[in-house]
Amino acid sequence: MGPGPRSPAGAPRRAAWPSSPARQMSIQSEFFKTFAREEAECHSKISIIGTGSVGMACAIGILLKGLGDELALVDANAQLVQGETMDLQHGSPFARMPSIVSGTDYALTAHSSLVVITAGARQKEGESRLDLVQRNVDIFKPIISSIVRYSPHCKMLIVSNPVDVLTYVAWKLSDLPPNRVLGSGCNLDTARFRVLLGQRLGVHSESCHGWVLGEHGDSSVPVWSGVTVAGVPLRSLNKHLGTKDDPEAWGRVHQDVVASAYQIIRMKGYTSWAIGLSIADLTESILRNLRRVHPISTRVKGLYGISEDVFLSIPCVLGENGVTEHVRVPLSTEEEAGLQKSANALWGIQKDLQL
Ligand code: NAD
Repeated sequence: MGPGPRSPAGAPRRAAWPSSPARQMSIQSEFFKTFAREEAECHSKISIIGTGSVGMACAIGILLKGLGDELALVDANAQLVQGETMDLQHGSPFARMPSIVSGTDYALTAHSSLVVITAGARQKEGESRLDLVQRNVDIFKPIISSIVRYSPHCKMLIVSNPVDVLTYVAWKLSDLPPNRVLGSGCNLDTARFRVLLGQRLGVHSESCHGWVLGEHGDSSVPVWSGVTVAGVPLRSLNKHLGTKDDPEAWGRVHQDVVASAYQIIRMKGYTSWAIGLSIADLTESILRNLRRVHPISTRVKGLYGISEDVFLSIPCVLGENGVTEHVRVPLSTEEEAGLQKSANALWGIQKDLQL
């Protein structure tokens, strides 16, 4: 047998299952006769950094989809990550879980295919996502260098807010190719948009198609020209759909999308379930190389008249190599202006960051 892949410095190969020393004890040694001793290789390992509300919602979404052959959970809070891991593992008989390793040491993340980053401060009541930025940039610096040290070929999926700025920060700090660093971006805004359209039309969100692009959050751009049900553009029924002149005021749907995170934070203190499920969906596209199209945060310099080096959400083909294609969506003049406004707002913040 040839040697296994190179192990990043100081990284344990695998630690989840008890290995031979434990077998020296009675039942194990009588019951099992060692036939082969081999280091297991992970082919689809997923690491989640940050085991707060969002990280654990991502974990449960990923586990319930049966994705990954090992899950690593890392958090700066040793007690929290240990408690969450024990609690999760006790559900193993019901969810066919892969092995889970956890702790505060980034060596645990070695050989990850995908690293999901949810660590950081969360929005306080009334605080905008952009207000969080410097606090989370400082948290990101040591995290990103540790991840790259142990998984130099991983894809990184950024969830922490402000997600578009932090995806840019992660890309800069990691030196990974831009296709391997993506942000959850408007994947959640788009899901909210489809749910609210569905509620208004009285049909399931899966049957309502529409895209929210640009900045995750306050300046996101709904693409009303692309809203369809059963292939029928709703603009063919109401040519003012979503505009200021719309007699039915469909624009409120997008206003509600923007307001919804603030509403949920006011009521329960944080958002978690929908973002967790949306990250599990993105993880599935990456690990199963599905090449589905998602509205995620990617480097958009040179597109839609954007000249600054920013990450914003546009529809992207997502698979095992991360983002491999950007979809060219024909946008109206106002929609394109909306993306440029988002880009300028983000650049206004990014240009002063100390990386
Ligand atoms: P939380 O406070 O519950 O969890 C954050 C976790 O990060 C904590 O457990 C903390 O110990 C850990 N942490 C802090 N510094 C760390 C470090 N240096 N290394 C490792 N772990 C560290 O917050 P949350 O509600 O889970 O939110 C997490 C982030 O996700 C926030 O930035 C929030 O705004 C963002 N978020 C993004 C979206 C989205 O659509 N992109 C949606 C919801 C929340």
